[in-house]
Amino acid sequence: MGKIWANSGDSHLIEPEDLFTTSLPASLAERMPRSVKDDDGRHETIYVDGQEFRRRMPNSGGLTDENGMTVAERAPGANDPHLRLTDLDQEGIWAELIFPSIGIWSSSIRDRELLKAGMEAINNWSIGYQAISPRYVCTASIPLLDPADAAAEIRRSSALGFKAGFFSVSPPGDVDNFNSAVWDPAWAVCADTGMVVAFHIGTEPLDASQHTGGYFRGAGGALMNYVETTYGGQRAVTKMIAGGVFDRFPGVKVMVSEGGATWGPFIADRLDEAYRQHGSMVRPQLRRLPSEYLYENVYASFQHDRSAVKAMTAMGWNNVIWGSDYPHIEGTFGHSQKTLHELFDDVDAASRTRMTQGAFAELFPDVPPAPRSEY
Ligand code: MN
Repeated sequence: MGKIWANSGDSHLIEPEDLFTTSLPASLAERMPRSVKDDDGRHETIYVDGQEFRRRMPNSGGLTDENGMTVAERAPGANDPHLRLTDLDQEGIWAELIFPSIGIWSSSIRDRELLKAGMEAINNWSIGYQAISPRYVCTASIPLLDPADAAAEIRRSSALGFKAGFFSVSPPGDVDNFNSAVWDPAWAVCADTGMVVAFHIGTEPLDASQHTGGYFRGAGGALMNYVETTYGGQRAVTKMIAGGVFDRFPGVKVMVSEGGATWGPFIADRLDEAYRQHGSMVRPQLRRLPSEYLYENVYASFQHDRSAVKAMTAMGWNNVIWGSDYPHIEGTFGHSQKTLHELFDDVDAASRTRMTQGAFAELFPDVPPAPRSEY
C-alpha cells in the first residue's frame, strides 16, 4: 500500500495553559476560556467570562489505552509544534489549516473589550506557531461582537501573516447575523487581504443557563448532537449567499471545517429552487444563481464521510477537502493512511488529487506543494 499525502482542511493546535496569564492582565486572563478536568477524567468544566459549562469529555467513549488516554491525546506532537511535524509525516498529512482548541470557546465571551484583547493575545502567540513550518496555516481568531472590531483584527492579523480567520458559525451578542450588511466592513477587509473566512462547526455561542456544552441530553443525545453541530456551518453559508455577500465581495472565500460536504449540493439546490419559485419575494436579488456562489466561493472539509467524496465525483462540487482533525478524537490520528486509502483508492486520479491536495492549495497558494501520493 503506497503512501498518500493529503493536506488537511481541519486541524487544531493545543494552546499552552499559561497562554492568557502570560499575555494579559490578570483581570482579563482569568475570564478567558479554561478547562478544569475532574479527577475521574470523564468530565470537565469550561470557565468562560464568568460562565460555566459542564460536559462529559468528548473522548470518554472513544478508543482508550489502559490509562484511559485516547489515541489522539497520545499523538506525540499534540502539545509540541516541532514534534507535530513527525506525526504529520507518519500520517501522510502535508499542510494543515489549524484552528484553536480551548480558544474555540471564545465565542461565548460577552464582553467586547475582553474579546478584543483575548483574540489579539491568542493571535500574537499563534503566529509564532505558524512560523515553525510553512506547512502550518494557522487561523487568526476574529472577535465577532462588533463588525468594526472584526475588520480591524482581520487587517492586523493579515499584516502579521495569517491567511485565514477563524469565525464562529454564528456571531455572539446583539449584532445582526451574517446575512446582514452590517458585516460588510469585515468582508471588505477579507476581500482586500485575501483572508479566507474559516468557519469551524460546533462554535455557536452557548447559553450558559443550560450549564452544558452540548445541545441535547437524554436518549440519543450524543448522536443527535453530532448531527446538530453541523447545521451552524450550513446556516452561516446560506446566510452569506442569501444576503448577497458574494455579490458585493466576489473574491471572498469561505471554508466550513469538520461538517462533511454533501450538504453543499443540497443547500445549493434548495437556494436555487427558492430563488426561482419564490422570486418575487427574494431580497436582495442576486447577480448570479445562489448555487454558483456555493460551488465557487465555498469549500468544506470532512474526515471519514464516504458520501463527502460523492459530493465532488457525483454532484460536481469541486471544493471538497479532506481533513484529519488532528489531534482531536473525531480525527484520524493513528489511522490516517487507512482512512485515506478507504476513501480514495477507487476514486479517479484527478478527483482524489483535488480533494487531498488541490482544493487546499487553491485556497492557500503560498503553501509548498505536497509530495506526490502513491496509490
Ligand atoms: Mn476540527
